[in-house]
Amino acid sequence: MEELKLIKEFENFFIGNIEVGKDFFIIAGPCAVESEESLLETAKKVKEAGANMLRGGAFKPRTTPYSFQGLEEEGLKILSKAREETGLPIVTEVMSKQDIPLIRKYTNVFQVGTRNMYNYSMLKALGKEKKPVLLKRAFTATMEEWLGSAEYIMKEGNKKVILCERGVRSFDNYTRNLLDLMAIPIIKKETNLPIIVDPSHGTGRKDLVFPASKAALALESDGLIIEAHHKPDEALTDKKQTISIEELKKIVNLKK
Ligand code: PEP
Ligand code: MN
Repeated sequence: MEELKLIKEFENFFIGNIEVGKDFFIIAGPCAVESEESLLETAKKVKEAGANMLRGGAFKPRTTPYSFQGLEEEGLKILSKAREETGLPIVTEVMSKQDIPLIRKYTNVFQVGTRNMYNYSMLKALGKEKKPVLLKRAFTATMEEWLGSAEYIMKEGNKKVILCERGVRSFDNYTRNLLDLMAIPIIKKETNLPIIVDPSHGTGRKDLVFPASKAALALESDGLIIEAHHKPDEALTDKKQTISIEELKKIVNLKK
């Protein structure tokens, strides 16, 4: 990976009071923003549990066009209301280059999902933004492809990149994806970039979110992004992997 230079030149930056690159942080919240009432309730509880940022998709990349696609701008407005009420910075997904100006108005961090890691025109456009980018690994990506995508963003000037290991596709559907935890020491060796772990999409199973988080911590992950809901059994999307607030507290306490 000799030609990739910028991934070695990362410098710490702040999101709220978190110094990325130094402080361990937890991003938690529902898979999707479902309604104002539901998101505000989850946000309040996620904050009480001790998470540092709030996640929630307003634009959802779904496998079929018939599934819930997200509340779009209404969802973004709900997220910013939750930020006003809790003080938690927001992390939300951007799926296309033309949505960047809209999402920029509301979010603190642009999330690039697994399906868009190879969306080079969007990555270049995000490279011109000032806000940080959470770059999820494509479920088919080699390390080199993933780091190439990070370099695309950084080359345009935006050095605030955070990598996220979220599992790769494997031959066995016992778990939704195969969480490649060795990505943590590999990324730390090859780059100076921060790397966090998504134990929710990485396993697809709520019973595995805790052990996967514990393992990520042991390997010195810079953070976690977790799907949590105040009523996990009623979550509209990714219910099987969404944990309760109680379970989230257990994970927050791992760090103490
Ligand atoms: C998500 O975090 O909401 C998501 C869709 O994740 P991924 O892109 O990793 O599937
Ligand atoms: Mn999800």
